[in-house]
Order: sequence, then structure tokens, then C-alpha cells
Amino acid sequence: MSTIERNFVLTFGQPPDIIAAAPGRVNLIGEHIDYSDGYVLPFAIADRTYCAIGKRSDRRVHIASAQRRNRVISIKLDDIKPSRAGKWERYVLGVIWSLGINQGLDIMIDGQVPLGAGLSSSAALECSVATALNDLFSLGIDLESLARLTQKAENDYVGVPCGIMDQSVSLMANRGSALLLDCRDLSSRNVSFDVAASGLELLIIDTQAHHSLTDGGYAQRRASCESVVAKLSIRSMRELTLEKLEASKDLISGIEFMRARHAVTEIRRVLDAVVALEKEDFVDLGRLLNASHASLRDDYDVSCPELNTAVAASISAGALGARMVGGGFGGSAIALIKASHTQETIKNIETQFRKNRFKAPRFFTSLPSQGAQIIQRG
Ligand code: ADP
Ligand code: MG
Repeated sequence: MSTIERNFVLTFGQPPDIIAAAPGRVNLIGEHIDYSDGYVLPFAIADRTYCAIGKRSDRRVHIASAQRRNRVISIKLDDIKPSRAGKWERYVLGVIWSLGINQGLDIMIDGQVPLGAGLSSSAALECSVATALNDLFSLGIDLESLARLTQKAENDYVGVPCGIMDQSVSLMANRGSALLLDCRDLSSRNVSFDVAASGLELLIIDTQAHHSLTDGGYAQRRASCESVVAKLSIRSMRELTLEKLEASKDLISGIEFMRARHAVTEIRRVLDAVVALEKEDFVDLGRLLNASHASLRDDYDVSCPELNTAVAASISAGALGARMVGGGFGGSAIALIKASHTQETIKNIETQFRKNRFKAPRFFTSLPSQGAQIIQRG
């Protein structure tokens, strides 16, 4: 019996009807452009969140998580509607709400994606629940729609204005590939990303920094992009070119110009990264990662000293490239490194963090993995 199944039985007194799992993700490149109709190039990590569900005969939903001491939270089905009430369980309730489930449930969660490290444990949680419910109730929802519904759960129920990327990759990723995702129409294609065969590795550095700017800062960046779009009468940053942006400089503020320049150049870098991957040109990929970081740091202004230190220390230890990932103001960075250099790189980053009196970082390595799956039925 798997750990989650055992937990479920111990907590709810009977075996689950279904178990599903969904992974966290790292976005190789294409940061802060999912909400600007851009392209992103994430891959699923090996760590995943497991969700076991059983139907109940009454109209209550009981939810517990191994990461929350398996304490059962109970709510009436009819009380599941967006409000500020509740904590982590809102990620689960939001999916029940957005999928329109009208049945009492027992739900057990066990997540191996580090929480709040920029690896999208939130999407892993939502997508594991959505995948389980889609199968359990034979809803037949396709993956694109499921991505939109889980995003809706996080946007409208939890109240986090996230884009569509995290849920899409958690649901659609393939092993050994990155997922090129067009955030405008959600079309996607897998791009082979066989780092291991080239003797390379992706080092994920969780800086353990969480600057309080996180929530407001993200909303402000989105607002700047929306303001540029309105002032230039375009539909999204996707329609903008550097030339058009330069020519429109007088119509927008200096800050808006910088934010827009990040969006425009980052969209270009994603497409260049796909070419680099197709040619297995990892040197060029590294260059693009560095350029992405500089743009996020200088034009988008979402980095922080810990992230900048992690990136600089990776590069001085010989990384092909490195950049912050996720929303910014803390969280994680990734470095594309030679697998033989892992320990050396980690040591260098640790030394630099100590020198700067930062909290000690955590390290993970991961290869591109499979998206959401049903683990067990009945
Ligand atoms: P990230 O998605 O980068 O990990 P978020 O702040 O978006 O960070 O999401 C983390 C939140 O998601 C946690 O604070 C918690 O509320 C919820 N969460 C994610 N995974 C779990 C889990 N396994 N058990 C309980 N809550 C979880
Ligand atoms: Mg998240």
C-alpha cells in the first residue's frame, strides 16, 4: 500500500476511490510573460503531489494533507464558494468549485514538491485534485480546459492572480521534454530537452528568501503591462515589437517602457531557446538564461539580492547560464551546469550566501519528467 493510500485509510476509515499525482515545474525560460500572451518553456520536475479521493454519502467535504499533519478540515458542500475564509485547503476547494462537483468527498493530500520554493506546489496540488476528479466523475475534460479550470480555482477562489503556465505544464508535460506553451491559445508542443545525455544538469537553488513584496509586486507588474496594452491600443504584449515600443516611448511612462521591454525581449528569447534546444546548443541556451535574468533584474525589477547572488555564484563556478525563476522577490533560481560540477557549484553558492549573511539555500536537481497521471483506481 502506498503512503498516501495508508494515510487515507487511517484518516477516513476506508480505501480511496482514486489516486492521482501531478508534478511541480521549473520554467526554463519565459518569465512573467504568461499573462502577456507570450510563450513559456517549462518542464515538469520529478517531485509531485499525490491526491487520494473517496466519495462520501453526505454533503460534506473532508480534506487533509500530510504537510498539514493530516488534520481533517470539514466543510459543507454548499459552503464552497469564493471567500477569504480558509487557508491551504482553498486550493482544493477552488478546484471542486471550478469543476462544479456536487458530491461529498474525502480528500487526502501528500505533496513532495517543496512548498513556496517557486516550484509551483500550488499548481501540483490543484492539478492532482483536478486529475483525480476528472477521472472519478468521468467528466471528460480535456487538458487545456482542465488547465483553465485549475487556473480559475487559483485566481478566483484562492485569490492569486497567476497565469496559465504552471497548471498547463503540470497537466501536459512529457518526460525528457520541455513544453513550449503559447499562452495566447494554449497550444503546446514538446521540445526534446535531454540534459542528461549531454552530461548536463539543472540545479535548482531555493534561496529560502520570501520578500513581502511578493503579492503586490506581481499584481503591479501585471497592471503595468495592462496599462501599456491599453495606451498603445494593442491586445497584448505579443503584438508589440522593440521598434514599435521605441516609437511609442512618449505614450507610456519610463517604468512601463522597461516592463514592456522585458516582455517583448523575453518572448523572443523563448523562441530562440527552442532553436537552441533543437540544435542541442546548450552554450546558446546558457546565454539566453543569463539574458533573461538580466532583463528580470533590471527591466522588470523582480529579482532580489539572494537571487542575484545565486545566479552570479553559479556562473562564477562555471555554469553555462543561470536565472531566477518564478514570480521573483525570493524563491528559486536555476543554473544549467555540467553534472560533474554540481558539488563545486553548490559549495560556491553556499559560500557566497554565508558571506552575505543570507539564510542557507536549499538545492535540488531534476530532469524533465512526466505530467499529471492517474496512479490507482478503486
Ligand atoms: P509555490 O506554488 O511556488 O510552491 P505558492 O505560495 O503559490 O508557492 O503555493 C504554496 C501554497 O500552496 C502553500 O502555502 C499551501 O497553502 C498550498 N500547498 C501546496 N502544496 C500543499 C500540500 N501538499 N499540502 C498543503 N498545502 C499545500
Ligand atoms: Mg504557486
